[in-house]
Amino acid sequence: MNSTDRLIEVMPIAGIETPLAYAVPSGVRGCMEIGALVRIPLQNRTCLGVVVREGSDQKVPAGKLKYVIDGLFNEPVLTPELITLSKWMRRYYAASVESVFETMIPSAVRQEMSPKMHRLLSVRQVLNDEELQALDKRAPKQAEVYRFVQQQPLPVARGLIMGRLKVSAASIDSLTKKNILTERAEREERVVYSDVLSNAEKVSEVAVELTEEQAAAEEDIAASIAAGEFRVHLLHGVTGSGKTEVYLHAMRRVLDSGGSIVYLVPEVALTPQTVSRLRGRFEQAGDKIVVWHSHLSNGERLDAWMTLARGEARVVVGARSAIFAPIQNLRLVVVDEEHEPAYKQAETPRYHGRDVAVYRAMLSKAVCVLGSATPSLESLYNIQTKNYRVNRLTKRIDDRQLPIVHLVDMRRERLNPDGSANISAMLAEKLQDRQDKAEQSILFLNRRGYSSSMNCPDCGFVAMCEHCDVMLTYHRPEQQLKCHICGFHQPAPSGCPQCKSSKVRWRGYGTQRIEEVIGKIVPGAKIVRLDTDTMSKKNLFRKILGDFRTGKIDILIGTQMIAKGLDFPNVTLVGLVDADVSLHIPDFRAAERTFQLLVQVSGRAGRGDKAGEVVVQTLMPHSPPIQYARQADFDGFLDAELEQRREFNYPPYRHLVRHLFRGRNPEKVQFYAEQWAKKLEKELTEPIEIRGPVAAPLEKMKDQYRFHLWYFVGNVSRTLPYITAIRDAFKLDDDVIDVLDVDPVDM
Ligand code: ADP
Ligand code: ZN
Ligand code: ZN
Repeated sequence: MNSTDRLIEVMPIAGIETPLAYAVPSGVRGCMEIGALVRIPLQNRTCLGVVVREGSDQKVPAGKLKYVIDGLFNEPVLTPELITLSKWMRRYYAASVESVFETMIPSAVRQEMSPKMHRLLSVRQVLNDEELQALDKRAPKQAEVYRFVQQQPLPVARGLIMGRLKVSAASIDSLTKKNILTERAEREERVVYSDVLSNAEKVSEVAVELTEEQAAAEEDIAASIAAGEFRVHLLHGVTGSGKTEVYLHAMRRVLDSGGSIVYLVPEVALTPQTVSRLRGRFEQAGDKIVVWHSHLSNGERLDAWMTLARGEARVVVGARSAIFAPIQNLRLVVVDEEHEPAYKQAETPRYHGRDVAVYRAMLSKAVCVLGSATPSLESLYNIQTKNYRVNRLTKRIDDRQLPIVHLVDMRRERLNPDGSANISAMLAEKLQDRQDKAEQSILFLNRRGYSSSMNCPDCGFVAMCEHCDVMLTYHRPEQQLKCHICGFHQPAPSGCPQCKSSKVRWRGYGTQRIEEVIGKIVPGAKIVRLDTDTMSKKNLFRKILGDFRTGKIDILIGTQMIAKGLDFPNVTLVGLVDADVSLHIPDFRAAERTFQLLVQVSGRAGRGDKAGEVVVQTLMPHSPPIQYARQADFDGFLDAELEQRREFNYPPYRHLVRHLFRGRNPEKVQFYAEQWAKKLEKELTEPIEIRGPVAAPLEKMKDQYRFHLWYFVGNVSRTLPYITAIRDAFKLDDDVIDVLDVDPVDM
């Protein structure tokens, strides 16, 4: 180490929780600024790390200081505020440095440890006829190479020339030495940035004139942007009220003033309409948009990320991980459908994309716009406490009416022979009516497959998953029994496997069975089913939506996952086949989810000129969320639900932390969960409420038995470190794993 060597601090992505000081050798390759991804020696190996500080006051013993090997890129892959965000995430979600950085920096970027290079050749000095003839005589191979390169519209790879023309590297080298050709190196994986959504249907893309309500909302948001302060706006607009249009106008302002934007959607593949609107609107005006989604190849990911890091694109649209995009000068973060549980990541770090979005906006002094027709209770509560501003859109565009909602009490419907009601007389009649009028219908049922269970009336046998506490679902097309938790499947038996009776019964209705039933009720209708089973085929989703739009399909049957953002003017009937599915989930949010589902699903009807109708089938027509949703009474629902939450100390009044213990041996898991509870109660000085341990609602899942505790916490960032400190000193058995989940969205 020379006294002139510069020092930096690097946070290794290697299971270490503190930054280490390194010396920067002079002439080192790559970026060494804060947020740069660098290779470092660590113990006896090489690993990656992120530069978190320039300079260091760590006292490293003489001779122990090591040199950074190099930087992977010429620019940082994280901005300084993303580094700050990573610290917050570690603390708030009790996550390791490694897991946070691996989440923030896409693996396609981290894998770029030894980039394979393509050497691309192009013509530098154009030869005239005379010169070319001279070259032909003196060095015919070189002339051949020259002609070949000149004919290509784009630079060509050296390897390709050598293979195609059977020439040696020396022929090419002499051309570059003479400056006739020029060569530059590019990453092999680099592909022109394109993606599966780029040829999505183009939507009419002139900015429309905003309605009065839209304009008022947009001006308020614009004022916050102009103020250059951190503010959160909740854009609470009924379905079809034109929320997207408000985002687009606000985005235009931000782009015009040189700022950048992150636009989050719950899942990109499910929102092709939004993507094509963004593309149509901004790319035509010359603003490049990066669409960050799961179908990108590694090369495309790397390219997209670096495009953002270099500031070549200032808008990124994507699912939750797009919030970590390394864009500078972030001015606006849009979180569309902010109530969606899909924003929560199910693996460590178990972060909530919306909450991280709000935090990042705060760090950047940017404006965060949360949009929804059915905001989460957390966000609505933040309005009441005046932390967020609210902008309401109460009317649909063109004053289209919200649909009429009919509740059908399924207890009064004639039961089918197998004991389960499914399609009411009213729904059947209205479906036929739409068919006669050449209007379209959508049916929702949040249950995939054919039937939800198989049982035997003679001996009581029920087909269960071998690995989970759930019944197997019958999938008719494949003749399989499947577990929707772990994916286990087996051929469907024709009789009872236990008593050999042939009278097996299929209970409960899934989308496949509804498809079959509707086929009989509305003969002649073209019916298509859309759920994760169909989604697994690439591009099928888009094709089906396209066919539905052009009227090739009369009735669309799907799970609620498809409810988001569907906007089809000719849909005048929406049926919710079983509104009670979400009421029965063992979750304090059951009422909220049911209310949201009803409102969202209803929002798919009557988006064109014709009025819409909604038929909701339920066994519990008097349950509050169903009643409030029917009357579209948000305030009524909010007041009633908040009162419940307050009484039981549930969010938004407290944060919940779920502490799950799991392992193959149930006694052991329970024992450790109980030991832990005792230790925690004894040692924790912070006053928090602890409930449990109890068996989790799904006690056995993927061969693991599960027990959990619940912590009711006022301030997570303050309290959680006390819990994790005690946890660090708690020795678990090797067969038992524990997981902390802060602000879980399911139980
Ligand atoms: P939301 O996101 O609130 O459900 P959208 O933004 O998708 O609503 O708007 C619903 C429909 O109304 C879209 O087809 C959109 O193009 C159209 N729209 C939105 N704002 C306007 C406007 N000011 N004038 C005319 N049409 C509009
Ligand atoms: Zn039997
Ligand atoms: Zn299973």
